[in-house]
Amino acid sequence: MPPPSASAPVRSAELRRHNLGLLLGRLRGEPSSRAALAGTTGLTRGTVASLLDPLVSAGVLAEGPPSRGGVGRPGRPLRFAPAGPVAVGVSVEVDALVACVVGLDGGVVRRMHRRREHRTMDAAEVFGRAARDVRALCERAGRPVVGAGVAVPAPVRGTGPDAEMLRAPNLPLLAGARPGELFGRVAGRPVVVGNEATLGALAHLGVASDFVYVSAGIGIGGGIVVGGRVLPGAAGLAGEIGHVVVERDGRPCGCGGTGCVEQYAGLPALLADAGADGLPALRSAVRAGEPVALAALERAGTALGAALASVLNVVDLPAVVLGGSFTPLGDRLAPVVRAEILRRRPSAGVEVLVSGHGRPAAALGTARAVTDRVLDDPDLLLRP
Ligand SMILES: [Zn+2]
Repeated sequence: MPPPSASAPVRSAELRRHNLGLLLGRLRGEPSSRAALAGTTGLTRGTVASLLDPLVSAGVLAEGPPSRGGVGRPGRPLRFAPAGPVAVGVSVEVDALVACVVGLDGGVVRRMHRRREHRTMDAAEVFGRAARDVRALCERAGRPVVGAGVAVPAPVRGTGPDAEMLRAPNLPLLAGARPGELFGRVAGRPVVVGNEATLGALAHLGVASDFVYVSAGIGIGGGIVVGGRVLPGAAGLAGEIGHVVVERDGRPCGCGGTGCVEQYAGLPALLADAGADGLPALRSAVRAGEPVALAALERAGTALGAALASVLNVVDLPAVVLGGSFTPLGDRLAPVVRAEILRRRPSAGVEVLVSGHGRPAAALGTARAVTDRVLDDPDLLLRP
């Protein structure tokens, strides 16, 4: 939540919500005593206790054993309760359903990965089956669900329960679908909906807070993260890095344009150029030093570097994170991408990192978006 505006009076309820969100954000980073929280936030110890103690009573927070540090009586560190509320992140991929249940501190409680061909299903079947699977996953977790989020491989207009999928080149039957309406029934709580790469970017806040995330699957998606928040865009199209043009009259693309980087560095293009029938085969060929595979990776990395240089010329961020199907190729791909970015932007440094999450990043980042939403409105944790 943004700090209260300087031009408007601050109502006590807003101030309370802001301070509570601040404290919970600190506890998401690490367990901390009330006294230590008072010290790092500037709130009085009494205010910290009055804000947090109701959450201890409600089972959202728990006290750890006393730990002595500094002077006075030993403090009891507060942390998110091991049996407390969880958030659910779901990623509907072209050929799989991925989900994770995470605690409010980000710890993963349950994971699910199901291969599922979604290209032939309509929206009711895709999201109905996903909702049933996710409900069963939540029951196995056995903890209260405070919210759910759904990531989809398409641009999305809006972020809430009525958010609408726009064109979905790889899942055309889902264009116009409203995934949140189906998932509202799973959690009965706030539902976040977004593009898989935009939300996947949020899974990487542990390594950087200002970066461009680019993720490969059937297509290429991305997210622009500034100050730990992902840029949504006015029409849900921010971070559509796959459609940055690297050859003006180049290969035709599913978006209707030509020469988009997705057609040179996306997984289907990369596999075709390398003559490989899948990512494991490509990875083996690259490791074996096969010239055709290495040349294909070099071409893809150069095209991706050129596209990212254009993006960085606009947003001027210090780091790039390569994720999705780029992760298993990252050790070979990242140096090529970095070299091309630096060739085009010699006066600016850039760090090219490889995601440690790979494809599960979308579900993890979606769960993170849900916990962000809850920390922005912490009273959700006290409502029955
Ligand atoms: Zn395109």
